[in-house]
Amino acid sequence: MKSFSPLFDELQKSLQVLPGVGPRSAQRMALMLLERDRASANRLAEALSKASNDIQHCQRCFVLSESLECEICADPAREAERLLVVENPGQLLAFERAGLHSGQYFVLNGLISPLDGISPEDARVPQCIERSKTASEVILALSSSVEGEATCQYIRAQLPGKTVTRLARGVPMGSDIEQLDPSTLGLAFGARESF
Ligand SMILES: [Zn+2]
Repeated sequence: MKSFSPLFDELQKSLQVLPGVGPRSAQRMALMLLERDRASANRLAEALSKASNDIQHCQRCFVLSESLECEICADPAREAERLLVVENPGQLLAFERAGLHSGQYFVLNGLISPLDGISPEDARVPQCIERSKTASEVILALSSSVEGEATCQYIRAQLPGKTVTRLARGVPMGSDIEQLDPSTLGLAFGARESF
């Protein structure tokens, strides 16, 4: 026997869309759900279906949201003039957890990367530029990578005269200078400050 059923095969194949899940672990997951824990299988199916149907993107900041405007965009207590640009919804949550930003957000769809075929349009940059026009300060909180740098430069060039800031680059807490890569060390050295 090569297969239990076409439905099982379909489930196994579907689980493989998850990052890092190959055929063997997909089979293990499917068996676990069907043989050991039917209640969790049903809960998972329901949660996935509801989330996939009911969660869209906020029309202003593009974070995941169940309504057209997310809680943050709809909150009149948040400063509308400071716009923090992040590259995915997870990073927005990280800033919210840290309680560092009381303004609004814009969530890009990743970073511009010509080598991977990701254009400014794919990364949602035109909407970000449009949204930035009403902000007095645009803070770019993007990865310090080649793509992050390219995206920062691209956005900066599209917003002449606007106050655009970005996160300081430096020596991460708890790191050993000897172990730092030359580009991190170079950025930290270039951005040294008097104290
Ligand atoms: Zn929003």
